[in-house]
Amino acid sequence: MPAETMTKTRWVYAFGGGRADGDASMKNLLGGKGANLAEMSSLGLPVPPGFTITTEACVHYYGNEKRYPAELEGEVATALKIVEQQTGKTFGDPANPLLVSVRSGARASMPGMMDTVLNLGLNDQTVEGLAKLAGDRRFAFDSYRRFIQMYSNVVLDLDHHMFEEILDEHKERLDVTVDTALSADDWEAVVRDYKKAVEGELGQAFPQDPQAQLWGAVSAVFASWMNDRAKFYRRMHDIPESWGTAVNVQSMVFGNMGETSATGVAFTRNPSTGENRLYGEFLINAQGEDVVAGIRTPQALTKIAREEMGEKNPSMEEALPDVFVQFKAVVEKLETHYRDMQDIEFTVEKGRLYMLQTRNGKRTAKAALKVAVDLASEGLITREEAVMRVEPSSLDQLLHPTIDPASNREVIATGLPASPGAATGKIVFTAADAELQGGSVGAVILVREETSPEDIRGMDAARGIVTARGGMTSHAAVVARGMGRPCVSGAGEIHIDAKTGEMRARGRTFKAGDIITIDGSTGEVLTGDVKMIEPELSGDFATLMEWADGVRRLKVRANAETAVDATTARQFGAEGIGLCRTEHMFFDPTRIQAVREMILADDEAGRRTALAKILPMQRDDFVELFGIMEGLPVTIRLLDPPLHEFLPHTEEDIASVAAASGLDPEKLKRRVEDLHEVNPMLGLRGCRLGVSFPEIYEMQVRAIIEAACEVATAGRPAPIPEIMHPLVAKGEEMKFLRILTDRVARQVIAEKGREIEYLVGTMVELPRACMRAGDLAENAEFFSFGTNDLTQTTFGISRDDSGRFLNAYIDKGIFEKDPFVSLDQEGVGDLIRVAAERGRAVRPDVKLGICGEHGGDPASIAFCESVGLDYVSCSAYRVPIARLAAAQAAIGEREKDR
Ligand code: ADP
Ligand code: MG
Ligand code: MG
Repeated sequence: MPAETMTKTRWVYAFGGGRADGDASMKNLLGGKGANLAEMSSLGLPVPPGFTITTEACVHYYGNEKRYPAELEGEVATALKIVEQQTGKTFGDPANPLLVSVRSGARASMPGMMDTVLNLGLNDQTVEGLAKLAGDRRFAFDSYRRFIQMYSNVVLDLDHHMFEEILDEHKERLDVTVDTALSADDWEAVVRDYKKAVEGELGQAFPQDPQAQLWGAVSAVFASWMNDRAKFYRRMHDIPESWGTAVNVQSMVFGNMGETSATGVAFTRNPSTGENRLYGEFLINAQGEDVVAGIRTPQALTKIAREEMGEKNPSMEEALPDVFVQFKAVVEKLETHYRDMQDIEFTVEKGRLYMLQTRNGKRTAKAALKVAVDLASEGLITREEAVMRVEPSSLDQLLHPTIDPASNREVIATGLPASPGAATGKIVFTAADAELQGGSVGAVILVREETSPEDIRGMDAARGIVTARGGMTSHAAVVARGMGRPCVSGAGEIHIDAKTGEMRARGRTFKAGDIITIDGSTGEVLTGDVKMIEPELSGDFATLMEWADGVRRLKVRANAETAVDATTARQFGAEGIGLCRTEHMFFDPTRIQAVREMILADDEAGRRTALAKILPMQRDDFVELFGIMEGLPVTIRLLDPPLHEFLPHTEEDIASVAAASGLDPEKLKRRVEDLHEVNPMLGLRGCRLGVSFPEIYEMQVRAIIEAACEVATAGRPAPIPEIMHPLVAKGEEMKFLRILTDRVARQVIAEKGREIEYLVGTMVELPRACMRAGDLAENAEFFSFGTNDLTQTTFGISRDDSGRFLNAYIDKGIFEKDPFVSLDQEGVGDLIRVAAERGRAVRPDVKLGICGEHGGDPASIAFCESVGLDYVSCSAYRVPIARLAAAQAAIGEREKDR
């Protein structure tokens, strides 16, 4: 193709002045922030003009040894010219300086993970110009000191504590406590010391050239894409590294120009509860990050919110009534335009409103449900869209316990209900301690003055988070909501003494390690362990689930073997049991004795005698399960684990089991040795047990069919048991097992004189079974993909040992996700596809399901829908997640066909 007609890659997109090069649909290229700034500009909203350097430029940068595309410099210069024209100011002009912010913005929002620099373009000359223009020297130097600190921190990589110490020294010298008490001269002195400190650290002066500042900041934003915080956040939220971040360069507006200036954040609805009411915080005479950083306690936006909080300081509605009216109209317009709850950043400069950001607001699961159901009821979105709006895995938050209202609450402090749910744990005061003592090690509550992005791993390891300072949009609150951790923020009554490792509240002292409970739904912090109750599954939850069930094609079953699990599963809407593991029933202390007798028996006759004792117990288990499931399908897997799992292993255990049961210890020991296998996972287990000792499976089949007869005879809905043979690899195995099963089943049916419908099938968990699925289907009426073992046998990786190396694989990008959590759709998925195809070719109505851990993973469920499986089966608590994910998958498949 001739060079002239080839479209050149464009690296820079402008916005502002009522128009924009981009729009909201261009998130991949412009990042979320850039795309929405463009969209807001086109909507005619007051957006300070600026431009976006694309994510492609970032990708190019990392793909070319950190070099910018050749055309970038020119495109930036052109875009900057346009901003200069629109603002009537010039970048670097000492008389009339244009200042800009340099802001990161990836496709997916990563709050607080990336760095932003404000007031860029200030230097020793332009600060004077700014002072003159504004007629306010104090403001100019306040802005300059903020710039030096931010730039030094973000771009020059200097520690922010250095600057805080300098500021504290000045305050001490001046005998003042708040920043607002510093005069123009004071700030000028602070700036002087800041610059000295930077020079001392770097051996060169703070950069004075605005162009150098600009490019320094751009490269710092690109670099922040690869910092540890960003990497950790990406891994937690499944954001690929390959996306890159965009950079937004935007002309500054100033919320720190006095009493008619302000900065704030707003949600169009309450992000914690979903209530349809403007919600947010603002600060008068402040800049950007002051609100989220929790430096001063922010004020409410609306009068009613202020009154409810019992606050004295005026709300925005009261302090800046004219701007508030305009703001409210803009906010409503944005919600209607985006048809979703918006999270908005704004600044007021001398009574003029500017919009700095909008995005679909992050919300708790509870709020997500309410907002989705409300928006559909308001007619802004359809019911199917509502179903698509709720992240299935977030439902997990709602399925968690809350504090029993009837329990005794001994409140030691109250703060803001920043993220719902309740949690109990030991107090820790540092993120490092939370990482050490929390996670899988124990339950801890992280108590901090406030949190910062460095604390993110500790927050993840804690069951709950408490902060003494900060509002509902503080770092702690936003991150906790995203993680689904309960959080109480701004509990000002708590005083933390880092030196002694204690906290005081309401006259009491607590040490690290003391137990507290937090209620993120009320904002209360309580002493000790408090009684919790199970979640309520009505209201918006029930409504949305009903809508989801209306569009879902996949059935959802549960993996359950106990009455408790089966009952929970039905409460959560399970449509059957997809996996009942019979060995779990064998471990019961009342039966293990008979099981061991069976294993120790010298011959078949001995085994049959022991099995006869187990039979009635197994039958009772199934009677109970069938009763609870009321005619819904129940898949029962015959004995699967190697027999040695039922025997004691250590010398001591053998002795005590022998003593307790009257079994001969020598014989027990010998049998344990006999059964020893080098690699039990690939040994005498699964249907190999049934082939080697048919009497075991015969007993189980008899127990199942007898139980079915008993239930049917009692006049209850007749169950349709699905008898499942594990670990089958060959057609001949399946044939042998099918004959065995039918023979026993017919015999029982003849004895009882009652016709019982049942299915015989197999758990597909070996690659050979997938490849030869046609052979299996000759005798199997259903396949249930056991994807835990299928993943192990496909990769040749033992799940229990994978912890030692999987992280290295994920770090190096060889695995994107843990294949035991989310199905490997390429490899394991291909095997499933082949098995489904070949199975159906032989038996068109072969029933297909999945029963591994993946049955509750939304991405894996979408895969199951695409292959056309009949059902997924997962743990009881994940059933609602699977129902919603299956509905979304069905809608997704339909969209694909369009
Ligand atoms: P984050 O993604 O962490 O929210 P932002 O880029 O949105 O970072 O910016 C941080 C803060 O600075 C926000 O409060 C934002 O409103 C403010 N800010 C950013 N750009 C400007 C600007 N051009 N003028 C005034 N304030 C700004
Ligand atoms: Mg922002
Ligand atoms: Mg298995």
